[in-house]
Amino acid sequence: VAPMVAKAHCPRVYFSSSSSTAGVERHAFQAETSQLLKIAAQSLYTDKEVFLRELISNASDACQKVRYLENTGEQIVDSHVELGIHITVNADEKVLVIEDRGIGMTREELKENLGTIAKSGTRAFAAKHADMKDVIGQFGVGFYSAFMVANSVKVFSKSAIAKNAQEKANLWESDISGYYTVQEADQNAVEVPRGTRIELHLNESSAEFAKPEVIEKLVSRYSSFIGVPITVNGKRI
Ligand code: ADP
Ligand code: MG
Repeated sequence: VAPMVAKAHCPRVYFSSSSSTAGVERHAFQAETSQLLKIAAQSLYTDKEVFLRELISNASDACQKVRYLENTGEQIVDSHVELGIHITVNADEKVLVIEDRGIGMTREELKENLGTIAKSGTRAFAAKHADMKDVIGQFGVGFYSAFMVANSVKVFSKSAIAKNAQEKANLWESDISGYYTVQEADQNAVEVPRGTRIELHLNESSAEFAKPEVIEKLVSRYSSFIGVPITVNGKRI
């Protein structure tokens, strides 16, 4: 682990030459980020469920950005697609998936926003658009709370901004090893029309978060603050 910390402020990029991993970028997290991930993973926090509030608020921010940009005349990919947040759980596989039809992220934005703590794309967005309200994020740490409940996190994302449309969906992936990878997503395996799909592979002590009844209850606690529809396994909450 030590060499990783030493290089932390100058993350290395690995381009693998092996064909099976062609095009996979591998980056070390900054030391601070890496430490935060470990703290999250070892969390004895009784309020682990806050990860869901954080991911829902990010998904909501992503939808509000689409709404805002559309109103200011920006060309949006698949503008007929309804804004919304869709959560799917599978108790057998201990997987929780949260999908939004929001602004999405390009490959550069995935690296920028999910590679560094205290980097808040949302804060930057609100600073750029002074009349933008309704966004929650500003600290740039909430996303990492996913690692309180998950061993491994996959983020598929596709930018909703039409001028980024030539860029296909990308996959950002990390476990708690201190590294993350970014690559073009398998376009057949995952359909991401626009927005972001986050897959949490839950750890042993967090299996309860793959139960629909548990998630429905949590979501109904947060959903009244969220301005877009939320579903859990297809059921509107
Ligand atoms: P914050 O929400 O306080 O900015 P987070 O750690 O929760 O910090 O998220 C970091 C950044 O990652 C956000 O500011 C945003 O730019 C980006 N992000 C996270 N989740 C999503 C999402 N579902 N869609 C688009 N961008 C996202
Ligand atoms: Mg957030």
